[in-house]
Amino acid sequence: MRALSEKVGAVAPSATIQISDAAKRMRREGIDVISLSIGEPDFATPEHIVAACCDALARGETHYAPSNGIPELLTAIAEKSRTGNGIPCEAANVIATCGAKDAIFQAMQACLNPGDEVVLPDPSWVSYEPCIQMAGGRAVHHPLRSPSFQIDDAILERVGPRTRMIVVNTPSNPTGTVLSRQSLRLVADLCQDYDLIALSDEIYEKLIYEKEHISLASLDGMAERTITVNGFSKAYAMTGWRLGWAVAPLPILRQMAKVQQHSVSHPPTFVMWGGVAALTGDQSCVEAMRREFADRRRYMLDEFGAMDMTVAPPDGAFYVFVQVEGDDMAVAEEWLHSAHVAATPGSAFNAPGWMRLSYAASLPSLKEAARRIRLWKSR
Ligand code: PLP
Repeated sequence: MRALSEKVGAVAPSATIQISDAAKRMRREGIDVISLSIGEPDFATPEHIVAACCDALARGETHYAPSNGIPELLTAIAEKSRTGNGIPCEAANVIATCGAKDAIFQAMQACLNPGDEVVLPDPSWVSYEPCIQMAGGRAVHHPLRSPSFQIDDAILERVGPRTRMIVVNTPSNPTGTVLSRQSLRLVADLCQDYDLIALSDEIYEKLIYEKEHISLASLDGMAERTITVNGFSKAYAMTGWRLGWAVAPLPILRQMAKVQQHSVSHPPTFVMWGGVAALTGDQSCVEAMRREFADRRRYMLDEFGAMDMTVAPPDGAFYVFVQVEGDDMAVAEEWLHSAHVAATPGSAFNAPGWMRLSYAASLPSLKEAARRIRLWKSR
């Protein structure tokens, strides 16, 4: 066979999927593995959202829709972004996508030219770099200082003549860090001084325990250069629905719209009606899930604190990021095969020496996992 795409060939397979596949394999072999490697809420999608989607199906919302998304959804997203996030925008600035991941992929396709550089503060979520690479760009890594993982002045050193974009993720997967106003102001100044685009991934914004979420695009002068990415997967337990969005300045949005028109067309029509119900309906379901996550987070912090492990301040999302001794890949293997606990090594997020544990698992499972890790540590 002739050589295939070098661009795709250069992309690493997902380390998070590799570890969860290994855990699944062990389960099939009858081994009782506890998986703390999962990045999805373990709750059912709230009933009124499911009902709205079923109603849409029953009334025949099964045909093509406008490519940027149904107007009702775009209007609801714009309204939420203006009133909830302080982002100046209209429905015309919004595109509904097949998950937040698709919004990120489209944004990179829309903005980057071959050889363009994107500053990526690490630890960073696994799909940013592949999305940059598949658009012909190059990630320039900026390791953030642990354990606070806030943005610092040193990020300036990563900006060069080819820099086109910077990615921020608040609250962060994997660290749980919520970026402070000061961190975001640094990013905003950098973008304005060097004419950069910002991609701000805010998919975990509803899962915050102590701090306040600030949208980068709400800062002065940032709406015109920020692509805000968000979605339904985490806040409304809708991972399988594949529905997300981006809010962006019109020139960028028009480019993303072309990527969408010539690839997926749009998210499924009836799924978008579920999204309308999620955003316009009662929000108490979000708060109920957040409170449940808050209890589990408290438990994880107490447990791992008591084990004398350094934990990044988990302000948001549903992960604790803990420092481990030695090679994190080897520790992940050890935990999986000796303690039967699946967790994701920090190396998957360009942060060797750390381990990400998801608490999107029941409290009894978390307790059993902590017991096993404690036992493993004292072996
Ligand atoms: N951004 C971050 C930081 C994530 O952790 C995830 C999913 O794990 C996504 C984006 C993608 O979410 P979606 O399911 O909406 O594609």
